[in-house]
Amino acid sequence: MAEGRTQIVFGTGSADADLMFVGEAPGFNEDKQGEPFVGQAGKLLNELLEQIGLSRGEVYIANVLKCRPPQNRDPQPAEIDACWENLFRQVQIVRPRVLCTLGRFATHLIAETTAPMGAVRGKAKRMEVGGVPVVVFPVFHPAAAMYTPANRRVLEEDFGRLRLLLQRGESVLKGPATEPAAEPVTALESSAPPAVDDEAEQLPLW
Ligand code: URA
Repeated sequence: MAEGRTQIVFGTGSADADLMFVGEAPGFNEDKQGEPFVGQAGKLLNELLEQIGLSRGEVYIANVLKCRPPQNRDPQPAEIDACWENLFRQVQIVRPRVLCTLGRFATHLIAETTAPMGAVRGKAKRMEVGGVPVVVFPVFHPAAAMYTPANRRVLEEDFGRLRLLLQRGESVLKGPATEPAAEPVTALESSAPPAVDDEAEQLPLW
């Protein structure tokens, strides 16, 4: 385990943050620089944050894995086991109100689901992570927008919801929770998502 890594990439940002992001694992640039999300996906994450009036210093950014898997291969169960307690400790120290999972890997592990991202992105789930009550809010991984530009609009829409969740707290959540669709939602590329209407918007729970 950890063979080939340059260094441990732990986390970055404010230890008081209301909002914590969790991605999958460090990539090439993160491994070199020792900081999560500093490559292309990180650049888009910075832009999305800026659009909702936040900087990296005001949030906390971490990954499930703290070491880059060789050749960016998928994380293996033993690697997840080795890093899991560290992630819990990060959540216990930061105690964010909202934990935004970036992409399928972090979403499935943290939100304890196998639902496709299309069914859960932009929806909120109340749960405990490491014993800390949080609202888990999955969004697409920023890298998904690098290959499919329409996904950027989806990310922008979901970041708009994230802003509402942070500003208005749990009053914006609409219950009761519903189970996510079992089948993938496929028509994301074709139509632009509607703009988020600040006053009327309520976020579905799942
Ligand atoms: N992708 C991730 O999931 N995490 C990073 O830190 C960089 C890219």
